[in-house]
Amino acid sequence: MRSNAQAQSNLMWPYYPDLLARAVPRYTSYPTAAEFGTDVGVAEQRSALESAQGPISLYAHIPYCSQLCWYCGCNTGTVGNGARLATYLEALTQEIALVSALLPHGSHIGRIAFGGGSPNALTPIQFARLLDQLVVAFRAHAPQISIEIDPRDFSPDWAATLKGAGVSHASLGVQTFAPHIQAAIGRVQPTAQVESVVAMLREAGVRSLNFDLMYGLPGQTPDDLQDSLARTIALRADRIALFGYAHVPHLIPRQRLIKADALPDQQARFMMAAFGYDVLTRAGYVPIGFDHFALPDDPLALVTQQGVLRRNFQGFTEDQAETLIGLGASSISQFPDRIIQNEKNAGRYRMRVSSGQLAGNGGVLRSADDRVRGAVITDILCGRPAELAPYLSRTVEEGLAPFLARGVARLEGTTLHPNADTAPYARSIASLLDVYRAQAPQRFSSAI
Ligand code: SF4
Repeated sequence: MRSNAQAQSNLMWPYYPDLLARAVPRYTSYPTAAEFGTDVGVAEQRSALESAQGPISLYAHIPYCSQLCWYCGCNTGTVGNGARLATYLEALTQEIALVSALLPHGSHIGRIAFGGGSPNALTPIQFARLLDQLVVAFRAHAPQISIEIDPRDFSPDWAATLKGAGVSHASLGVQTFAPHIQAAIGRVQPTAQVESVVAMLREAGVRSLNFDLMYGLPGQTPDDLQDSLARTIALRADRIALFGYAHVPHLIPRQRLIKADALPDQQARFMMAAFGYDVLTRAGYVPIGFDHFALPDDPLALVTQQGVLRRNFQGFTEDQAETLIGLGASSISQFPDRIIQNEKNAGRYRMRVSSGQLAGNGGVLRSADDRVRGAVITDILCGRPAELAPYLSRTVEEGLAPFLARGVARLEGTTLHPNADTAPYARSIASLLDVYRAQAPQRFSSAI
C-alpha cells in the first residue's frame, strides 16, 4: 500500500540504479581529500599564507560535542569535563597568532565561520573570547559570522552572545523530527526544543537559518520524511541541506550502533531524495546543487540564479572568496593553487602549534589541469551548463553515454546541459572528469 507521502509525490526524478552503482566523492574540492599526500605541509602552507590575495574567509573548527551521535562521520570527540576543550582553545589561540602574522598586511577578512563538532560545546564566554581573538588578530572589519549549532546545547545565554556578536547565519543539526528515528541514531531532541532554539535565533538576529536534514536513516519511512519536511517548512528555515545517510561502519566505528537491517535500500533512499526535492520545490524553495534548497530571497538562491554558486569544504556556498583559511585540528585551507589540511589529531595539533609550528600536515598542490577540471566539476555539481571540450576523450564520452541516453543531461556541441532530472546523477557525471577516480573507489559513499 502506498503511504500518504508516496501518494502525494509525483517522484519527478527517474530511477536508474545502474547509473548510481559506483561510489563517488562529494567533491567539496578537486582533487578530493583522497588525493592529499604528506609531501604537502608547513612550507606550502606558509608560502600560501604569505602570498594570499583578495578577500579571505576564515573557518574555525571545534572538534568536540557534548554527546556523540551514532551516525556522525565528523572528526569530533566528547567534551567530558571541559579540560580538553580548554587546552584546545589555548592551542587555537596560538594558531590564530601564527597564521594571522603571516598574511599580507591589509588582507580583508570577509567571513568567519565556526563549525565542528559543535561550536556550542564551548561556553558562550569561550565563544565570545575566540571570536574576539579572531577579529583582533586578523583585523577583521564587520565580517559575516556564521555558526553550526547543536540544538541540544543551546541556551538563552548563547542566544544573547550571538546577538551581541552580530551572528547573522546559523545552521541547526536537526536530521529528523521523528522520535523513533532519533532513538535509532542516538540523537534525541524533542520538536519543542528545536522550535525554541529557532525562536531564540530569530530573536537574536539570525537572518539565514539552515536546517540539516537526513534521509536513508534507520526505520525512516516516506511519511517520517514528509513530517520532518513539513515541520521544517513551517519553521521557515531559509536553507535546507537534505543529506543521504552514508552507512560506512568499517570507516566510522560509532555507526556500528546503528542497526544496518533497519536501513532503507538504495531504491527507497532514492525515492526519499526525490520526494524531498518534490516537496521542497513545491513549497517554494529553490533547488541548490544536488542536495540543498533555499528560499528565493536567501543569498544562496540569489547566487544560484546568477550562476555563481560555489562549492567548498563547507558545501554549497555563496562565498566568492578564493582563499579559505581553516583553523583548528583537521581543518582544511583552500588556496587557488593548493589545499592544505591541518594535523587531524587534536593532541598532535596542540603540540605542533604550542611549539610555534604551523599545523599543516597534508594536502595537494593543484595543477593547472586540476583547477580547470575542478571548475568544470563545480559547474556540474552546481547544476549549470559545463563546457567539456578539453575533456571529451573516448573514455569520457563512453561514460557519459548512458546518462545522455536516459535523458538525465543533454550534450549540445561540447556543452553539457543539466535538466530537472540531473541532480541525483550529478556526482556520478562529475566523477567521469575525475582523473584520480580509478583508484580506491570504495572510500566513497553511494551517489544517492
Ligand atoms: S552534534 Fe553534530 S558533530 Fe557532534 S556528533 Fe552529533 S552530528 Fe556529529
